[in-house]
Amino acid sequence: MLSANQAKDVWNRAVEQTRRRSPASFEQWFSGVQLEAFDDGRLALTARDEFVRDWVKAHFLPDLLANLHQLLGVEGASELEVSWQISGELNRPICNTVTRSSSTHPPPPSERRTRPPDGGPSARVERRSERPRLLSSARAQLIASLNPKYTFANFVVGPSNELAHAASFASAGGGGPRYNPLFIAGGTGLGKTHLMHAIAHKVLDERPEARVVYVSAERFTNEFIEALQHHAMDEFRARYRTDCDLLLLDDIQFLAGREQTQEEFFHTFNALREADRPIVVTSDKYPHQLQRMPERLVSRFTSGLVADIQVPQLETRVAIVRKKAQLEGIPLSDEVAVLLAQSVRSNVRELEGALIRLAAKSSLTGRLIDVEFTKGEIAMVSSTRPDVMSVEDIQRAVCSHFRLSNAELLSKDRHKSVAFARQVAMYLCRQRLKCSFPELGRAFGNRDHTTVMSAVRRVEALRQRDPQVNAHLEAIEQKLAGSDD
Ligand code: ADP
Ligand code: MG
Repeated sequence: MLSANQAKDVWNRAVEQTRRRSPASFEQWFSGVQLEAFDDGRLALTARDEFVRDWVKAHFLPDLLANLHQLLGVEGASELEVSWQISGELNRPICNTVTRSSSTHPPPPSERRTRPPDGGPSARVERRSERPRLLSSARAQLIASLNPKYTFANFVVGPSNELAHAASFASAGGGGPRYNPLFIAGGTGLGKTHLMHAIAHKVLDERPEARVVYVSAERFTNEFIEALQHHAMDEFRARYRTDCDLLLLDDIQFLAGREQTQEEFFHTFNALREADRPIVVTSDKYPHQLQRMPERLVSRFTSGLVADIQVPQLETRVAIVRKKAQLEGIPLSDEVAVLLAQSVRSNVRELEGALIRLAAKSSLTGRLIDVEFTKGEIAMVSSTRPDVMSVEDIQRAVCSHFRLSNAELLSKDRHKSVAFARQVAMYLCRQRLKCSFPELGRAFGNRDHTTVMSAVRRVEALRQRDPQVNAHLEAIEQKLAGSDD
């Protein structure tokens, strides 16, 4: 049996230990909870309402009980019987947030139940069906930075993105093997950021207490520089290492050549990996193509799963147009959806842009979005803006034709079939993009320009005399022209 004083001491210590893990949110929630009784067999609590009770039960109670049991020397959570009551009047709440120094501007008492100063639990009472109330400014910042439409439900899955989609879903705890890190590579406007936001939304919906950090590599760099200038590295590291359960870093290619930020990110990466916290990175290039990126980072990026997003095929593009039209409330016939999808092939963002332009013009001119109107608009846009192709587009097309991974294409592998695919890719890049030989050498795993020159010559010659080689090239060229549709 514990004496009353011993019980009080154990209780206070357990509360203190629980509070230490996340002080700000602890204070917010425990201002709505009161202790009625605690002795060695029983813990009786009163919560301000059911929502506070459920939240505390789900997010703090396991920790609190573990601390109590440890202090009491009892194994297993079942030893303590926990009972709850609900009462709108709490005169001895465990925490009193209103008197805390951080609450410098408490709202008037009449508003306190519905609008707590910094996102406390009570606002939730009115809005049960929505996402639980934000508990910290980091979370509020995160939600503000996410596009509410970039969810898994709004992402159209097709052969071009199914691996990236499945792996992202798994990273968000949706099931399936979870790779760490997950590296999503793909050209601009193909849905990388959409997937990142979808992961964040899903995790926040299902585990509101999870500390998700979504940041572009550019912002990471700026924050890092600012932290250095203001001697605030401890805060910076806490944000990205200790206080981060899931890191989503968008557009890693931005770190090219930024050595000090790369170094910092390297340590961030290692800290998170060691703690088995998921890291998802996106990039417009495959890891091996990232220029001015140290090898140790590149090799870390490839140590989990590299999932690429290719240009979607016609069927997927049509489905995307339909989905966007539905989300934006734009009436669209199937014929128009197909027309649009046929006209913009290489970039979903532009496809979406074309749809929005069409809808805007239709509402301004009062014309219906029919086939004729759409054709006219498409003709106007396509005459002014040719599709721009990149080395990566060609490498992707070659990899998909020869069923190779990009890593193989850029590797030192001299195996005949891999070497042939590589030479074909070099040839096509030279033909279509007019890149210089040294430039191509760099884009193909830092090879010498003479290697590229002889590859291009070899394929040129083979194309003339070997119909099979010519057939390969034509198939890839068709793919690049989008005529696989
Ligand atoms: P990235 O980050 O790869 O440059 P984004 O994620 O910003 O591209 O996507 C560009 C636009 O295309 C966004 O509006 C996004 O919603 C849309 N998009 C891309 N792929 C898909 C998809 N598979 N389904 C639905 N929308 C998509
Ligand atoms: Mg993006």
